[in-house]
Amino acid sequence: MRRCRRCVLARTRTNIVIYRGPPSPVLLFVGEAPGRDEDRMGLPFVGSAGRILARAIEALSLEPWEFGITNVVMCRPPGNRFLPEAAGACAPWLQEKIHRLRPRGLITLGSHALEAFRPDALPITSAAGRLWGWGGLPLFPLLHPAALLHGPRYRARWEEDLRSLRSVLPDLRAGRIPPGETAPGPVPGTTGGPLAKTLLQGGDVPSP
Ligand code: SF4
Repeated sequence: MRRCRRCVLARTRTNIVIYRGPPSPVLLFVGEAPGRDEDRMGLPFVGSAGRILARAIEALSLEPWEFGITNVVMCRPPGNRFLPEAAGACAPWLQEKIHRLRPRGLITLGSHALEAFRPDALPITSAAGRLWGWGGLPLFPLLHPAALLHGPRYRARWEEDLRSLRSVLPDLRAGRIPPGETAPGPVPGTTGGPLAKTLLQGGDVPSP
């Protein structure tokens, strides 16, 4: 995983940004891709968006052993422009991480993160703030915290979604998916996102 060169982002990255958190988190936050600070330090969500996420985690009273943080794409895209082809190339690694970490619930951050799991749930402004299911796990989409850096427009929505997240935390911690949101099939992610495509093409999960 650390030497991966499956897509063009290998040429420009400084560090692969894999994961931050305990070996068996109850909840897994999944963002989109590393930014400049993350690329430099090799850790996810350590820049300004990371500080917003840290405040949210504190407001939710999550303990450090309870949560881990990762991204759909592990190498920084130049100019922070999200590349769908990189998400597809990186999907086996995300699948591998979820398989190894075995979280009870997923919290996606931003539209590209949601798209990797449940593209059918987009747009993010409709999907965020309520519980979905993916591959037998509960999935709760939030806006990307970086949205709050671009003005106060999304702050009220972010706060409202956090209140909703707090109310369903027991379900996420217990791995309970909402009624009618059962896994689409035995293969996780059969809804068309990068993870689904990877798995449906034969479960190409390379060795670390
Ligand atoms: S973004 Fe993912 S697939 Fe592309 S080189 Fe980095 S680790 Fe490999």
